Amino acid sequence: MSGKMYRSDYVVSQGEQPSIPVAGGAVYPVRHIYCVGRNYAEHAREMGADPDREAPFFFMKAPDCVESSGAQIKYPSRTENLHHEVELVVAVGRSGADVPVSEATDHIFGYAVGVDLTRRDLQQAMKEKGRPWEIGKSFSQAAPVGEIQPAWNVGHPREGKISLSVNGELRQEGDLKDMVWGIDEVIAELSTYYKLEPGDLIFTGTPSGVGALVRGDSVSCSIDELEPLEFSIAAV
Ligand code: MN
Repeated sequence: MSGKMYRSDYVVSQGEQPSIPVAGGAVYPVRHIYCVGRNYAEHAREMGADPDREAPFFFMKAPDCVESSGAQIKYPSRTENLHHEVELVVAVGRSGADVPVSEATDHIFGYAVGVDLTRRDLQQAMKEKGRPWEIGKSFSQAAPVGEIQPAWNVGHPREGKISLSVNGELRQEGDLKDMVWGIDEVIAELSTYYKLEPGDLIFTGTPSGVGALVRGDSVSCSIDELEPLEFSIAAV
């Protein structure tokens, strides 16, 4: 154990370690949350972008945005257009910089279903002004993530259905094989900007069908073979 964990001379409260349950009972501590923008062609088109294969681009959410499955999420402040984006989430298990595509899976602990909640109106306004997106992407409870399935249980899913329903109505449906940049390519590229560390989550992009959530909605998300993710938006 690092001595850091037991310091008693912090001048303010250290706060809780953000974490996500692992299927079978353990807990995964979250260190960074990286996200890939526009990684399914149909979604790039619905956002008005050219779905050509440009290099993937990245943004981050603060680690304490994570929320576990089953949570009630408070409708966030300063938005009137909270959007859902269902995504495959990769949980990094081994550190590495400049990871070759062929070795990317060696760095993966497991996989989960996540939703990249987005204050779309704020993101759009920042985009138009060429300003940073954080207020649109990083806020309390903005990253609900289901239980993590270790790769030793599920292998490395690279195809299969990904979907999101709101109040029982299907809103988003896609296939992991339709990613513009595959998971291994995303890991390779991301690791040239940041040294990946155990505890890093990578949201790998959303298929088409993003849309608004309102107070009182129940959301369920699934990816073949992974634990489903469910959450609700508080009524008030
Ligand atoms: Mn996203």
